[in-house]
Formats: sequence, structure tokens, C-alpha cells
Amino acid sequence: MYDLIIIGGGPSGSAAGRLAGNTGLKTLLIEKEIFPRYKPCGGAFSEQAMSYIDFDIPQYIYERNIFGARVHFRGNFIEKRKDYRIATLVTRSVLDNYLLNKAKETGIEIKTGEKATSFRENYEYVELFTDKGAYKARFVILAEGAQGNLKNGIRKKDGKNEYAICIVTEVEEENRKIDQYICDAIDIFFGIANRGYGWIFPHEKYFSVGVGGLASDFTNPRKAMIDFLNLHGFTGKYKLKGHLMPAGGIERRIVSSRVVLSGDAAGFVDSFYGEGIAYAIRSGQIAVEVISRILKNGVGSLSNYESVCRSEFGENLKYSLILSRMMHSFPRIFFKVFTSCEEVLDKYLEVPASKQTYKSYIKWLLPRVPKFFLFQILKKVVSSKALYSNRRYP
Ligand SMILES: Cc1cc2nc3c(=O)[nH]c(=O)nc-3n(C[C@H](O)[C@H](O)[C@H](O)COP(=O)(O)OP(=O)(O)OC[C@H]3O[C@@H](n4cnc5c(N)ncnc54)[C@H](O)[C@@H]3O)c2cc1C
Repeated sequence: MYDLIIIGGGPSGSAAGRLAGNTGLKTLLIEKEIFPRYKPCGGAFSEQAMSYIDFDIPQYIYERNIFGARVHFRGNFIEKRKDYRIATLVTRSVLDNYLLNKAKETGIEIKTGEKATSFRENYEYVELFTDKGAYKARFVILAEGAQGNLKNGIRKKDGKNEYAICIVTEVEEENRKIDQYICDAIDIFFGIANRGYGWIFPHEKYFSVGVGGLASDFTNPRKAMIDFLNLHGFTGKYKLKGHLMPAGGIERRIVSSRVVLSGDAAGFVDSFYGEGIAYAIRSGQIAVEVISRILKNGVGSLSNYESVCRSEFGENLKYSLILSRMMHSFPRIFFKVFTSCEEVLDKYLEVPASKQTYKSYIKWLLPRVPKFFLFQILKKVVSSKALYSNRRYP
């Protein structure tokens, strides 16, 4: 009987595993892939994400320091940098492998190349079944990411307006040419897909290029990606990888009596910018904090996990969704302002840098929208509840 079984060795599972090991919980982590494994991602690892981990990341993992962004919309574009770092760009196979090793060094048991297939909750424990065996634990954290199915034993499947479809590839290039294109900022293109964007992120000897948009409106992502690549002169043969990304800020059930969802499985991704690594790490840690308090002191229940997540970052995710819906409902107003007014982008950069919340950014932004448009936006909010449903949580 384990205290805890964690499914998934991504940032969320690894962060949970490391804390569980350090806390002395008898823990098993099960990962279906052999690491290092490929993970489709832009690879922006934010300062906020870094702030959650209790060890230094070696310099070789940081490919580029990012200070700002260039954003485009229908021919307009603007570029802005901060005098502090906002994120670094990493290759996910390398970062995730390092994080998993940091979990392993705490002494937890890790089985890779083994896939969890189902679980059954009993009054006192959970039975977990894999393609190689069966295990028992007092608690389970499902950190299986956006594409796993086990989470549907806890919550209903996301509707098509509750997740994005992304296509990503890596375009090899000399560093010299990458520096000429964009050196220490990310390049973002709005107007490619509803509730999403296209991106070109500069890495070490490659660009991460991708497009993502809300599943309900993104009818032909592959074509959008090929058009996007061609538009930017990327005409080689590339392996295109698809992946889902949950929209954060939507109410989802994230616990049962003995099972917790963390990271993407819980839907914890910024709906506007697509950042998920920070929330994956932190939610994995919160899950372990709550579980170890129950196991060691017999206090609390897993519903504490919901309330801590809500108070630490739930509101930020909710307002990322509001900003996303606002911007994409009135693209010609907001994206035009976003890509032509330096101050608007400059202020926004404080959000991914964790120096400002989405709520305070929206409060700052709205009075700067011309009164006529503001009236139209408010009308739409009041009449259709278009911006945020009255449902309860992330
Ligand atoms: C195209 C794209 C670009 C993105 N860009 C960024 C970015 O630049 N910055 C950022 O912060 N976020 C980004 N994100 C979001 C980020 O990738 C996720 O939020 C983050 O990876 C979530 O971590 P996780 O540990 O919850 O899940 P994952 O990283 O997906 O890890 C889940 C792990 O569980 C394993 N697993 C799944 N099912 C099972 C099973 N049944 N049994 C055993 N193991 C299983 C998987 O193999 C995987 O290793 C991006 C997402 C996409 C799709």
C-alpha cells in the first residue's frame, strides 16, 4: 500500500513527486513514456514557474532569456522589452527529464514505460491498474496532462469551447539567423485563430513554430499551420505535432474523495497566453501539501486542494479567460490597440512576469478603450453572459 501514486511525469507529476519524497510519503510515480520524451510546447518557462521550484536549473537548460514580445495583428505590429527577464526558453524533453530526475533523487519509486489504464476508488484506498500490474494507494494524483482519459472518471470531458487545439513544429536554424530574426523576445501573431494565436519562439538552433485556437472554431488547424509556416518562409518538410490545451478559468471538478487532478488534467492553463507549466508545478505541490496533512495529521479533506488552488491562482486563470474572450470578441478594437499602443503591451508584459494580475490589467485597460466601444462590450457582457459564465471555479 503506497501513501500516494502519481500518474504522469510531466512538470506537475514531477513537482508532486519531489515534494512527496521530501515529505516522506511512500510514493510511486508512473509515467507511460520513457524519458526524455518529446512534449509539444513553445517552451516558455516563466519566472513564476521558476519561483516554485526549490533547486537551481542548470544553465545548459536555459536556451534563451526572454525580456519582451513582438505582437502582430493584420499587418500592425509592435515590439516591447522589459528591463527584467520574463521567461527563459527551454526544450521540454530536456527540462522535463531534469525535473523528473529531481523527483527521483528524493527516493520515490518511479516506473517509466508503464501506462495507467484505470482506477477504482474504495472507502479506504484507491486501486490503480496499469498495462503491467495493479497497485494500491491511500491517494492518487492524476497529472496525466491534457490528453489522458483517466481524469474523465472525476470530471466530464471538456466541451469544444473549453479547450484549444495546437499544432507545433521545430524549424532548425543557425543561431546567427535566429538572433537576426528575434533574439530575446517571443513573436506572437493574433488573428490566426479565434481565441488563440500563432507563435515563433527563438530557441537554441531552432524556432518553435505553432498555431493554436479554440477547438469549436478552429476547423482546419493543419491547414492554418501550413499557411502560417509558408507565410513566414518556412518551406521545408516539418513534422507537425498536434496537442490539446485546456482553457483555464472554467469550472471543472478536480477532486473526488481520494483522487486529485493537477496541472493540465485539472485545466490549469492561462487562457490568453497559454502558460501552463507554472500552474502544473504549483498545483502538483499543493496536492501533496493537502494529502500529507491528511495522512500525517488526519486533518482536512481533498476539497482543501480546490480552495488553495482557487486562492493562489484560480482568479488569475478566470481573468485570463475573461481577457481572452474580451479580446477575441472585439479583435479589431483590442488587438489593434494591443499592436499599436506601446503602453498597452508594456503593461501586459507585467502579467506573465507576475508583477501584475489579469484582473488589475483588465481594470487598467478598460478605461483606455474608447467610450463607444466600451458601451458595446458592456452590452454584450450583460446581454449574453459572453465573457464569463456564472459557473463556479477554474
Ligand atoms: C503546443 C503547446 C505549447 C505550449 N507552450 C507553453 C509554453 O510556452 N509555456 C508554458 O508554460 N506552457 C505551455 N504549454 C502548456 C504546457 O505544456 C502544459 O501546461 C504543461 O505541460 C502541463 O504539465 P502537466 O505535467 O500537467 O502535463 P504534461 O506535461 O502533459 O505531462 C503529462 C505526463 O503524463 C504522462 N501520461 C499521460 N497519460 C498517462 C497514463 N495513462 N499513464 C502514465 N503516464 C501518463 C504523459 O506521457 C506525460 O509525460 C503549451 C502547451 C501546448 C499544447
